Amino acid sequence: MNFTDLNLIEPIAKAIQEQGYTNPTPIQEKSIPEITKGKDFLGCAQTGTGKTAAFAIPILQNLTQNKFPNKHIKALILTPTRELAIQIEENIKAYGKYLPLKHLVIFGGVKQGNQEAALKKGVDILVATPGRLLDFISQGIISLKNLEIFVLDEADRMLDMGFVHDVKRIIKLLPQKRQTLFFSATMPAEIQKLADSILNNPVKVEV
Ligand code: AMP
Repeated sequence: MNFTDLNLIEPIAKAIQEQGYTNPTPIQEKSIPEITKGKDFLGCAQTGTGKTAAFAIPILQNLTQNKFPNKHIKALILTPTRELAIQIEENIKAYGKYLPLKHLVIFGGVKQGNQEAALKKGVDILVATPGRLLDFISQGIISLKNLEIFVLDEADRMLDMGFVHDVKRIIKLLPQKRQTLFFSATMPAEIQKLADSILNNPVKVEV
């Protein structure tokens, strides 16, 4: 399969071509058509499989079809580490370079001033680590009430790093009606249970 078979809008197709990608990876081949249809998605995939683009590309495509642009956060990508968060935001920046969508990455361990100023200008796609996100929510700086798409990335690592309680607190604050995308390299029982509790009839892909 070629990227041109995936019916991506021109600004995204052009950005992908500039990245030098010609063929979607196996997980992208399955995720892009299903996520752009609005389906929930469960991907059992390691880093290196192209899983970031597997959710970033269809999120960009879905949000571009949004008829009522506003300053609310529309997509949230929750990931366990600062390094992953930065990488994901770089991917979104690359694939979304010809789109008017605003994206931001927030993480702990640094002063919140710059992140706060950027949030106040309006963000469409937010990439976050759990602790810093909860800090901003508790201060009333971030609201997720208009969220449309939620991505939980590296769910098994969230568990290993002791973030599951924070993740569950965040999930409780999300609108019931939303699209959820769930990624994990492994599926221990606790992660499977979490996936079952937040996904609605997902398409499942293991690579
Ligand atoms: P990830 O699994 O998301 O960490 O991606 C692993 C690497 O593969 C990253 O450096 C991406 O830039 C690259 N990549 C993702 N999708 C493709 C693709 N369809 N063709 C070539 N490289 C890709």
